[in-house]
Amino acid sequence: MGSVVNEIDCNRCGSDNGFEDFNYKSGETTFFCKSCGCYESHMLKRNEDRTLFLKNPKRGYGDFNCVWIHDKNYNTLGAYNINLYDRGGIIDSLLNEEDVKEIKEEFYSNDRYKELTITKFINGKITTDKYTK
Ligand SMILES: [Zn+2]
Repeated sequence: MGSVVNEIDCNRCGSDNGFEDFNYKSGETTFFCKSCGCYESHMLKRNEDRTLFLKNPKRGYGDFNCVWIHDKNYNTLGAYNINLYDRGGIIDSLLNEEDVKEIKEEFYSNDRYKELTITKFINGKITTDKYTK
């Protein structure tokens, strides 16, 4: 692998549910908050086969021949967390109420999903709703 994972405070909502992943081999970083759903990442552009995309394929993997992609969203509505019956789970951001509606429909239509937790960050406060079957 080559990653260091840390739980850190979220600068946006202040919760301690921030999750940071730093790949010390590539220098790539991702941040995700499990409460408010905001995220930020600095990732290297890759080809479909996951190899690094190079500006000039005849040259090596030097810093000036790779392409960095900066992605962030600090205006998310919240996040969801689905626990599966077998094991593991799915966590991702919710951008708006339409996303909330879709993930609820997905939750009730998939037999592998055991529990759904939705957190929203509205007017500086985090609310949590749990759904089970
Ligand atoms: Zn947050």
